[in-house]
Amino acid sequence: MNKAVFLDRDGTIIREFHQGGRDLTNISQVKLYHNVPRALKLLQQSGYKLIVITNQSLIARGIIPERQLMLIHQYLKKLLSKKGIKIDAIYYCPHHPTKGIIKRYSRICSCRKPQTGLIKKAIKDFHIDPKQSFFIGDTLRDKQAAEKMGIKFVLILTGYGRKTMREIDKKMSVLTIGNLLKASKWIVSAL
Ligand SMILES: [Mg+2]
Ligand SMILES: [Zn+2]
Repeated sequence: MNKAVFLDRDGTIIREFHQGGRDLTNISQVKLYHNVPRALKLLQQSGYKLIVITNQSLIARGIIPERQLMLIHQYLKKLLSKKGIKIDAIYYCPHHPTKGIIKRYSRICSCRKPQTGLIKKAIKDFHIDPKQSFFIGDTLRDKQAAEKMGIKFVLILTGYGRKTMREIDKKMSVLTIGNLLKASKWIVSAL
């Protein structure tokens, strides 16, 4: 069995572009947060698979075609591979339950976070033990998806992280760590 760190994409490893009310449609908009390469390297060196799990409803909404998303993901992988980091896989949900205009993607699905379809697929594809794995993200959807699968969740404060922190119910227990590098250091030292 393998262990993995599941990573949200926007607001976690790259800048949350949507916060400005726009969608990330082009590789020129892909900006890694500071220290993300160091963080991922640390996790990789500790034996974690690096798997990105991301909602990309802009496909359903007809903003970009799926092949453009592929190019963006290829670019992201290349950016990181130049720093010696291998992203094992990027799983995305192209659907949206209500706002879609592309018919085949405009539906309720089982893969849009907080649903667990993408994580389940990754677990199967890479023989991952959820109990030895972590999920790092910036929203409650990430947390819900992770915890349904028995994966420990770490909220970071980049992207929507601060907003998420304010939304957290006092009774809810959430491990919150400032950024991806700090979260990765914690994961590696918590072994
Ligand atoms: Mg996010
Ligand atoms: Zn989906």
